[in-house]
Amino acid sequence: MTSSSAQWSEGAACRSSHREDLFADAARQNRAKTVCSGCPVRIACLAEALDNRIEFGVWGGMTERERRALLRRRPHVTSWRQVLESARSAHEQSRASSPAPASTASPARHTG
Ligand code: SF4
Repeated sequence: MTSSSAQWSEGAACRSSHREDLFADAARQNRAKTVCSGCPVRIACLAEALDNRIEFGVWGGMTERERRALLRRRPHVTSWRQVLESARSAHEQSRASSPAPASTASPARHTG
């Protein structure tokens, strides 16, 4: 763990779970990743692993294998933290500017 990770890791969802599963075999890692889906520090965790080329374990919902594949696809990224934060901001802005979904409920019918 690096010094910057000490700050965000206080809010980690895996603090109270079986952390050893994050560094286990592939099957256990895939099960352990489910904890990450609701983790409030997921982006910081993933950015930490990608920016520091951490080679082992599940970080930010990705196994080491998945991170290696991502790093191969995007070799020129110098700050994953910046990329991930930008993506989150864009996603939040698009959600905020989208109209509310139309109701799918059928109109009430009066039969009698
Ligand atoms: S994203 Fe996953 S591995 Fe990272 S702190 Fe959260 S629960 Fe732990």
